[in-house]
Amino acid sequence: MNIQFLSCFKTSMFALILLFISVITSTAQEKITYLHCGKLLDMNSSQVQSEVTIVIKNNLIDKIEKGYKQAPANAVLIDLKNKTVMPGFMDMHVHIESESNPNSYLEKYTLNEADRAFRAQNFGLKTLMAGFTTVRDLGGTGVNVAYRNAINQGLVTGPRIFTAEKSIATTGGHADPTNGGRRDLLGDPGPDLGVINSPEEGRKAVRQRYKNGADCIKITATGGVLSVAASGLNPQFFDDELEAIIQTAKDYGFHTAAHAHGAEGMKRAVIAGITSIEHGTYMTEEIMQLMKEKGTYYVPTISAGQFVGQKAKIAGFYPKVVALKAAAIGPQIQSTFAKAYKAGVKIAFGTDSGVSLHGDNADEFILMAEAGMPAYEAIKSATVTTAQLLDLSDKLGTISAGKWADIVAVEGDPLQNISILKNVRFVMKDGVVYKNE
Ligand SMILES: [Zn+2]
Repeated sequence: MNIQFLSCFKTSMFALILLFISVITSTAQEKITYLHCGKLLDMNSSQVQSEVTIVIKNNLIDKIEKGYKQAPANAVLIDLKNKTVMPGFMDMHVHIESESNPNSYLEKYTLNEADRAFRAQNFGLKTLMAGFTTVRDLGGTGVNVAYRNAINQGLVTGPRIFTAEKSIATTGGHADPTNGGRRDLLGDPGPDLGVINSPEEGRKAVRQRYKNGADCIKITATGGVLSVAASGLNPQFFDDELEAIIQTAKDYGFHTAAHAHGAEGMKRAVIAGITSIEHGTYMTEEIMQLMKEKGTYYVPTISAGQFVGQKAKIAGFYPKVVALKAAAIGPQIQSTFAKAYKAGVKIAFGTDSGVSLHGDNADEFILMAEAGMPAYEAIKSATVTTAQLLDLSDKLGTISAGKWADIVAVEGDPLQNISILKNVRFVMKDGVVYKNE
């Protein structure tokens, strides 16, 4: 054997061993899960299928087969034969860092970022266990970005998060973080903290969100209930500011959401091309028609409206200026939702949890049904429609081969009794089981 041959032999043996190792590790890493589903509502249609097997490979749905297929020896089998299986729910309006309480207004001065982070983890866990595998966070301090990253890195547990980081407002507007505070403590925030007063500052605020790691842009197009400010309804951006923000957002691949109660600010945002209107309290028929023409989504947040309406009756829960607005505006949202649904506006499920309580997200299903939306349509608004809003219909929204394995299950038939959605028994996100009762 000459030396050249020997070295060539060694090299090819080495390559063979490497190949062998890589085959071994890839087989070892492939995680296969079989779900035996008594009932399946895959959300491709309203038809409920019986006795179905879903095969999951790693984080993806591999195939859906009729009957209870035998799981191979290397697979995990999960028995959901007495359950109805659906895609994971998605909530398009939460604030994962915080939750209303009588001390909320003081917390601005007392909580450090680390305190917020621990709270976020707790709220996120409640959300996931309630069957909400994906949420859109519409505004916090920036801890929401760190929490999203930690979840994505597998360091902590929580739902899949798409976050707006910090909302964009105008001076004194809803989401000006210094409202109601002492000027010497909080100063006069600018675009860096999401407070703008010109198209130029609007562009800078969007670019700052991009730099900070946001996934989307939130603006507060009108006054809001919980800010320490007189009006909950007035328009708070000019057309040129809205246009600058929305166009810049498009350049960075962001969709946009507008908090809006009053009609004028809402209409301006819809005309400027906003992706979704949040709350929409005093939405007129004209705005509904505009939204249909432009394909704007409506995220109702009836839950938050009901919550603040009830808490406004408890003395001291909110400052007086807030309680007055909460009592007037909160209870309106459910009837607006009923009209908008009837008019054919696209409805994307959202609660404003953080205003209402985290983990109670499924209350919204019941409130939607009360207002005249059939159960199937309500579930669709939290799966198919939310996936469309996020531009992720190829990954989320239905139980279909190739999509991310975000799957939940309840006992009973949610199309007959929507309130059972409050009692989610099984939660899988990205192919990992987080709950199985
Ligand atoms: Zn909100």
